[in-house]
Amino acid sequence: MAGRAVVVGGSLGGLNAALWLADAGWDVEVLERSRSPLEGRGAGIVLHPATVRYLVEHGGADLDALSAPARWLRYLGDDGGVLHQSPCGFRFTSWTTLYRHLLDHLDRRRYRMGAEVVAVEAGEATSRAPAGEGIAAGAGAVSSPATTADGVVTATTAAGDRVSGDLLVAADGVASAVRALLLPEVRPRYAGYVGWRGTVGEAELSAETFGALHEAITYHLMPASHLLAYPIPNVDGTVTPGDRRLNWVWYRNVEDGDAIDDLMTGTDGRRHPLSLPPGAVRPRFLDELAEAATRLPTPLAEMVTGTAEPFVQLIVDVAVPRMVFGRICLLGDAAFALRPHAAVGTAKAAEDAWQLARGLREAGGDVGRALASWERSQLRLGRQVAARTCEAGNRSQFEGTWQIGEPLPFGLYGVGDSAFARP
Ligand SMILES: Cc1cc2nc3c(=O)[nH]c(=O)nc-3n(C[C@H](O)[C@H](O)[C@H](O)COP(=O)(O)OP(=O)(O)OC[C@H]3O[C@@H](n4cnc5c(N)ncnc54)[C@H](O)[C@@H]3O)c2cc1C
Repeated sequence: MAGRAVVVGGSLGGLNAALWLADAGWDVEVLERSRSPLEGRGAGIVLHPATVRYLVEHGGADLDALSAPARWLRYLGDDGGVLHQSPCGFRFTSWTTLYRHLLDHLDRRRYRMGAEVVAVEAGEATSRAPAGEGIAAGAGAVSSPATTADGVVTATTAAGDRVSGDLLVAADGVASAVRALLLPEVRPRYAGYVGWRGTVGEAELSAETFGALHEAITYHLMPASHLLAYPIPNVDGTVTPGDRRLNWVWYRNVEDGDAIDDLMTGTDGRRHPLSLPPGAVRPRFLDELAEAATRLPTPLAEMVTGTAEPFVQLIVDVAVPRMVFGRICLLGDAAFALRPHAAVGTAKAAEDAWQLARGLREAGGDVGRALASWERSQLRLGRQVAARTCEAGNRSQFEGTWQIGEPLPFGLYGVGDSAFARP
């Protein structure tokens, strides 16, 4: 056994870390805050080879069974006509489909739910980390790292359980409590716009709208805004055209301050920091969305107005200067939360996980050396892709320089590496 790894967060980044580390000989335990299975969260995900690497290498996942392909990248004009289309090889899935498939590969005794980590203690090497006070982060407060025996990390849950290991992987997302402890100065920075999101069943659409959208990833550019749509598996995993769902994201600028505070105050009267889930958006904002949607090209208008519970995600930037603190490392959104325009947030989390396990395996027990090398490569990747996603967002939302027909900035190491063989 290579050692014991504690993974904080059991979403796509945490699951990838647990699976790849287990393969590399680590005894793994995942601590997930949520008390119930993470079903139905989020919506569509553009697939990337890194996202499905584990599933392909372990059982040869059939991409046709877990994703929907698009034949065309299509730009629609105001009148609903096609302004441009070019062949493409993108595939789309849903967060839920990926989560279910990954979880199926993990020994469920390794996945503890209802385990919110509220404190971490780290080995000697973390003495480099700034000692913080216990601070509020996300739903919980994490206490400062105390020094324990060299090389040993311990996570303490809200219930008071202490889980120790030789490595702690923080995959606890954009509002990472572990990051807030180690790097209190790094906070999500609002990018000036939100993603309105939703899904609607293909079967609920008129034949004209289904025909206009089902084979494509469809873009519509507007002044200081853009909207995209693509098909994803239905909630039960069905990928048959006509029985899937259409996933859409409409990026809309909202001024910082009172305006964004107002929008992000949900039906519960609380100002939500990063997202308003389905059902939590106040009626006045849903009415405004529906009214604005009437000015979209007809198929897109029908798709948006036909969506039962649109939800909102704040678009933020998070970028850390360091990912390794002794035996603790930050992975996925906990380290870099990317604007969605390169469609590789999940892919980056999966890549971080795969590279971590690979580096540890190759280092033959020298965990410190492996982590140092991993940090260099993953910081480089995070910075590169963050720069590309910021540029794409700024061009479309503020500068108005995104041209009709432009290839999409999708890609992890470079534009274009998200493509699969064309259907
Ligand atoms: C509009 C939009 C579109 C997107 N589209 C794409 C796309 O097409 N392709 C793509 O690859 N990515 C996309 N993404 C990004 C993607 O959703 C994230 O990058 C990805 O889910 C990150 O995974 P993660 O595991 O790092 O974090 P998360 O999914 O946020 O998971 C964090 C987990 O940690 C748990 N947790 C939190 N705190 C604690 C704690 N203290 N103790 C224990 N557990 C805790 C949470 O419950 C959660 O399960 C998109 C994002 C947005 C906003």
